[in-house]
Amino acid sequence: MAISHALGRRCFPHRDHLRVRSEVAPDGDVVGGGGEHAQRRERTLTEDRYLGRLRSMTQQPPAVPAETADWTFVIGMGCQQCGFSAQDVESTGDRLRATIPFWRESLSREDASQRPEPTVWSPVEYACHVRDTCRIFRERLELMLREDDPTFANWDQDVTAVKADYFHQVPTEVADQLAAEAEATAAAFDGVKSDQWDRPGRRSNGSLFTVKTFAIYFLHDIEHHVHDVTR
Ligand SMILES: [Zn+2]
Repeated sequence: MAISHALGRRCFPHRDHLRVRSEVAPDGDVVGGGGEHAQRRERTLTEDRYLGRLRSMTQQPPAVPAETADWTFVIGMGCQQCGFSAQDVESTGDRLRATIPFWRESLSREDASQRPEPTVWSPVEYACHVRDTCRIFRERLELMLREDDPTFANWDQDVTAVKADYFHQVPTEVADQLAAEAEATAAAFDGVKSDQWDRPGRRSNGSLFTVKTFAIYFLHDIEHHVHDVTR
């Protein structure tokens, strides 16, 4: 781990702005940082951002309380928290695509990895969750279109967030991954034929969906997380 060395030898020529040469290895280590590594790509960072990033890479964040609510009520009732009401399901793909610029903008900010409160996900953690939600729900949609009344494998989103270390993922990389997964899932919903919206499927806890109610449940989840990061 090179962070302590990097901190120890780093000097900042300007208070507000500096150019550093550094590289973040796939495992999160900071390597290099001096003239001897001039071949490495150059980044422009503010001092605060640089130090904040080093600090965050040495931290293990506090546990975020597990999600225990059953949000299926939004299918019939909408959501007062985020203002969602059930969409025309034919528009699911377009509504999903419309959220991609929001995430790109949020993840380009300097504080994209910072939690607003110790036990509230940072924008990048929410984005990792949205990225993975798009993938999981696309797989479930494909299963519903392929099989009669399938049962979905359980997915524990809170366990995934810790195991996949959402906290330390790189915002710009997550933005690209989220855009790709959202686009693929939007295309999958675009491809649902008019006689397929009533096909059934169920969660491992027994909650019964049709492709239509599944599309509503899914889109609420995505748009609610935009609300989570905006507020
Ligand atoms: Zn909501």
